[in-house]
Amino acid sequence: MATMIADLTTMRLGGPAAEFAKAASTDELITAIRDADAAGQPVLVVGGGSNLVVGDDGFDGLVVQVATPGLRIDGDHVVADAGVEWDDLVVATLDAGLAGLEPLSGIPGSVGGTPVQNVGAYGTLTSDFLETVSVYDRVSGAVEVWGPDRCGFGSHRQSTFKHTRRYVVLSVSFRLAEGHSSLPIAYDALAQRLGVAANSTAKTSDVRAAVLALRGERGMLLDEADHDTWSVGSFFINPVLSEVPAQAAACPQYPDPNGVKLSAAWLIHRAGFAPGYGRDRDNGTVALSSKHALAVTNRGGATTADVMRFAAHIRDGVEAAFGVRLGPECDLVNCAFG
Ligand SMILES: Cc1cc2nc3c(=O)[nH]c(=O)nc-3n(C[C@H](O)[C@H](O)[C@H](O)COP(=O)(O)OP(=O)(O)OC[C@H]3O[C@@H](n4cnc5c(N)ncnc54)[C@H](O)[C@@H]3O)c2cc1C
Repeated sequence: MATMIADLTTMRLGGPAAEFAKAASTDELITAIRDADAAGQPVLVVGGGSNLVVGDDGFDGLVVQVATPGLRIDGDHVVADAGVEWDDLVVATLDAGLAGLEPLSGIPGSVGGTPVQNVGAYGTLTSDFLETVSVYDRVSGAVEVWGPDRCGFGSHRQSTFKHTRRYVVLSVSFRLAEGHSSLPIAYDALAQRLGVAANSTAKTSDVRAAVLALRGERGMLLDEADHDTWSVGSFFINPVLSEVPAQAAACPQYPDPNGVKLSAAWLIHRAGFAPGYGRDRDNGTVALSSKHALAVTNRGGATTADVMRFAAHIRDGVEAAFGVRLGPECDLVNCAFG
């Protein structure tokens, strides 16, 4: 029976994979992709499926799930295969007395998925600690080791790996700080939760606990029983604009190398879409999370087509109110909202 992509993704969406492989070693991963490329078969690489929405017709090619498990810690240096669960890596580093990744606790997905959009939370980015990425180049057939300068990090949630399927992340290495004391906590809500002054430090285990508590309250920790977490986290990306329309002047704004970054959550909420919006619309299978306006959620029984219609509705409402057109943060495969 065909593998349903819905079973591989946190939004539980996506039709059948024409072919499916689970790669348990880096050699298996490269071989599966190389063979598919030689046969002219499309390839979709899937890690934890937590930033991916696939169409109801599925994927007419090879879907390869990365399940490579290697994790090595040597002093302050950590190397993890792409298939390692991100949060397992965070826990392993904290247990080993290494600091740095604690604000990124509880983020779903694989290590290989994190450089793709330079995953970040609570004032910390993957790129703050990333030392190298081992990459398989599907065009040249070479395996290369890249430093952060080649990864195209900079603008919000962007990288050389995003919007192309050319590069497959095989493993990632990080250089962390030794000790059980966190790095200075720049994010106000986290500092407040910990009861410390902004830019002071705390025990890494306390930071992890505070982050998990905050994430849980926002529906940003996976929980099978809670439909608010049947999402891709932030569905819409914070827009980066060279010029902010006058209607959006009140929106929180942050500097970005490509202009000014606006808060998509603020725009959505102020355009009239409060958390929970959508439960009584259409067939009610898609709604904003009741805990966070930026998460589009599957309430059970949603199709990808339902989600695309709902996303277009939110995008259009925000554009009408503020003159800002929102786009997806997640990867949309064989689906679009216009
Ligand atoms: C509840 C929830 C909370 C979230 N919170 C955050 C957050 O706080 N911050 C944040 O930044 N993100 C967040 N996300 C988004 C998501 O967790 C991250 O983007 C994560 O890194 C995606 O990893 P993944 O393995 O699940 O990728 P997938 O969803 O499997 O894939 C996403 C994209 O990456 C590609 N990809 C995956 N693995 C590889 C690889 N090895 N090589 C090349 N390409 C690959 C896929 O082809 C696809 O294009 C959240 C998601 C959810 C569901």
